[in-house]
Amino acid sequence: MAPAPYTSALAESLAPDLLDRFQRYVRVDTQSRPQRTGSPSTPGQLDLGRLLVSELHEAGIADAFLDDNGYVVASLHPVGVESGGPTIGLIAHMDTSPAAPGKGVEPLVHREWDGGVIELPREGTRLDPAAMPEMNAKLGHDLVTGSGDTLLGADDKAGVAAIMAAVARLAADPQLPRPHLRIAFTPDEEIGLGASLFDIERFGALCAYTIDGSELGQLQDETFSAVEVTLTVHGVDVHPGYATDKLVSALRLAARIIAALPADTLAPETTSGREGFIHPYSISGTPGQAQVTAIVRDFDDERLERHVALLKRTAADVVGAEPRASLEFDVKPQYRNMRRHLDAAPYATDAAEEAMRAEGLDPIRVPIRGGTDGSLLSEMGLPTPNIFTGGHEFHSVREWASVQDMAASAATIIRLAEVWTRPQFVAAAANNGRS
Ligand SMILES: [Zn+2]
Repeated sequence: MAPAPYTSALAESLAPDLLDRFQRYVRVDTQSRPQRTGSPSTPGQLDLGRLLVSELHEAGIADAFLDDNGYVVASLHPVGVESGGPTIGLIAHMDTSPAAPGKGVEPLVHREWDGGVIELPREGTRLDPAAMPEMNAKLGHDLVTGSGDTLLGADDKAGVAAIMAAVARLAADPQLPRPHLRIAFTPDEEIGLGASLFDIERFGALCAYTIDGSELGQLQDETFSAVEVTLTVHGVDVHPGYATDKLVSALRLAARIIAALPADTLAPETTSGREGFIHPYSISGTPGQAQVTAIVRDFDDERLERHVALLKRTAADVVGAEPRASLEFDVKPQYRNMRRHLDAAPYATDAAEEAMRAEGLDPIRVPIRGGTDGSLLSEMGLPTPNIFTGGHEFHSVREWASVQDMAASAATIIRLAEVWTRPQFVAAAANNGRS
């Protein structure tokens, strides 16, 4: 198998440093934990934060620091653009998903992948290209995996490593043009709170980019709109031996609500592309009281409201058929489609497309069937599209990443910095609020 070419000489020159960093970062257990009591939710995220600050200092970025909430923030002064030019943000998240084991990650590099099944040493985990067709585009790539018993953490340490390799290169090379850059590494993205304590005023950027996508060339300016619904059913609990005509089981009613929801449409497993869904993901309780938690998703806010109404009607019909039972229905907004905020700041995605073309890539614009830190940041006033990292099969023990594609992500960041020194983008920034 011939080695796969890099997207550019720049990408190839960044790859060794990037891979070094990536392997170092994934070994730090930064799994976040839901229902946090402080920020970050877990101490491992602070360990990685401290490591990143010291590496940024080594790279000559003296103002890098870890704030009280576990955010790493740093900046790089502009080169090749007048002072007063735009300030642009680069963002990746330090935590990994609670959905798969994240402690004791042992990364493995499979050089010049030959297209065969990759057997990992632990737990019988296999990466089979027949089940993961995205692998087939990576013949000859150097692929990084975990050892089979943990996630890899490419989500989002591939993004962290790409930013670190790119800014270390920018800091070391006074010839590379760039705007004023602000860098942030966030905690707790995977539990939906990465943006919650993000200080947008202090960050001071016109727009920003999360480096938190997947396939090479992807540029994402659209996310789901998202709510979480909690249904609480109250029944009547009685000793089962004396329950005749008395017991009203909340647990059975809760199960009936789930069974009454559409399954061949409006479910994650039966929808794709721009279709939304209702996804009950937890049920618990007793005959006396039961709880169903569901997430509801759509790209369109009005359709999202209709899905929530359908869930409410279904639950009310099931519970309403039993006069002794009662229902509570609680809707918690999570994040909104970032599209309309990015439509109002077209220069953000335009610049990213220019950067990808400069790296020899055809930008692929696809909506994300999920959210990013950028969903909330865009809503809070910092337009933030999402750029690919080269990682795949996130939140699973089969997670993998291509070294060549991660290097292309780092090179795209350096191209993006150059694009933001071009006169038309400097002018667009000057005409659009903060610079
Ligand atoms: Zn992520």
